[in-house]
Amino acid sequence: MIPQSQYKISASSFYDLSRCRRRVYMDLHGNPEEKSEHSEFLQLLWKRGFQIEKKVLDQIVKEKPVCAVEGIASLETFEQTLALMKQGVPLIYQGVLIFQDKIGRPDLLQRTEGKSGLGGYYYSPCDIKSGRATRSKDSEDLKSHYANQMLFYAELLEAIQGRKPEQGSIIQVDGEIMIFDMDDYFSDYEEVKASVHAIVYDKDEPEPLIGGVCKECVWSKPCLKWAEDKRDPSLLFYMGKQKYKLREKGIHTIEDLAKIDVQAFLRPPLKIHRVAEDTLLQWKRRAQVWVDGRPIVHTSPNLRSARREVFYDIEDDPSSNHVYLHGFIERIDGKTGEFKSFLAIEPLEEKRAAKETWAYIETLSEKDIIYHYGSYENTKLSHLQKKYSLPEETFQKFRRLHVDLCEVVKQSSDWPLTSYGIKSIAKFLGFRWTSEDASGANSIAWYTDYQKDPVGNKDLLEKILTYNREDCEAMIVVHDWLSMNSK
Ligand code: SF4
Repeated sequence: MIPQSQYKISASSFYDLSRCRRRVYMDLHGNPEEKSEHSEFLQLLWKRGFQIEKKVLDQIVKEKPVCAVEGIASLETFEQTLALMKQGVPLIYQGVLIFQDKIGRPDLLQRTEGKSGLGGYYYSPCDIKSGRATRSKDSEDLKSHYANQMLFYAELLEAIQGRKPEQGSIIQVDGEIMIFDMDDYFSDYEEVKASVHAIVYDKDEPEPLIGGVCKECVWSKPCLKWAEDKRDPSLLFYMGKQKYKLREKGIHTIEDLAKIDVQAFLRPPLKIHRVAEDTLLQWKRRAQVWVDGRPIVHTSPNLRSARREVFYDIEDDPSSNHVYLHGFIERIDGKTGEFKSFLAIEPLEEKRAAKETWAYIETLSEKDIIYHYGSYENTKLSHLQKKYSLPEETFQKFRRLHVDLCEVVKQSSDWPLTSYGIKSIAKFLGFRWTSEDASGANSIAWYTDYQKDPVGNKDLLEKILTYNREDCEAMIVVHDWLSMNSK
């Protein structure tokens, strides 16, 4: 972790900016007393990232000598890096680059032949990432925040070694090396850099935009308080940046929005570019729900009745692409049955658990319904079907029987909540999870700790199963509320 007190801009400023502009401002100017701890999940991701980095490094060390710079980023570790650069060593791991008030720490600095202030060679940056570096599997286009971090390192290197590296490289989780030309990303970088500079030097304070990204953010408390005090429209589900469009038309608060005359907003001077009547009606309705503090069912939910209803939830670890739990609760003729689970603690057990899930789906009748919350279960089952060549027919049966309850919630109801996730909605309806810190992210952290020491951490397995069962129960609560309150 790089100390930010004396250094105002670091590579993480570019990463943070891609997720939230305010984050960059808060890291520099926010009151540290209002900052929360990093979540268990984020710490786990860092640990994973570090393990992946270590694995890649072990491979590299077999082929080339690597000089590591150890210790926190500081002037001292910068001096060590500079000494290694002057010696011309082939690879520097965790070198520290400092210029004026900017600091960066690329995973690797790679010696490249060509003239520079160092002599007949210079250094190019390389990062090791625990995911894909490109925007999609088939694209060669780097994720912009990765590219921007690399261009930032390139600028630091230019100041230090008197030559800007023309190329950078990223080693992806699968070991593939992406080499790219810095110039291809230059204009985007300049734009992002201008935003970072405005926030850092001009104290251009971006407002909070409350959304999903805030869940794992250390500044969520002060940002939420700001938004609640101001009755900021970004508190409404899926509003985000659109609040600025509303502000241009004089709508500053949720209360203002709840009172708009939609027809007037369909004509100049109040017409908002690219905002149709449906969207305005939705915003107004959500604002009214927020003002009243009560959810509403505005459209009859698409919920057919069935003798057997199955409430299904998957737990998986996206960083290792491993589905470790399928959990179900059945309700037959209105009577809720036992929780069933197919567990795969080790990745090698994933196929067996998937087969058990397939066998279970095969026992269901065509009249039954499988509820899940969000698109994850559908996506994961499709992935497992292909991965283990499981019967396609059974997956198609799942597709016929399944209902994404989250879609039903979004299409038929509105809530005085920022998120329409199962946690927010079921909690609003009074449902409580046994673990106060229950979340999908923490379930992954518990699973990881359990895997490391199944005997010492056996209570964690119980915690994971309880969490998954309670997610299924929460779905029943939401489902029944929708049914009871439908018009
Ligand atoms: S809580 Fe949300 S708005 Fe605030 S800094 Fe974090 S991500 Fe940005």
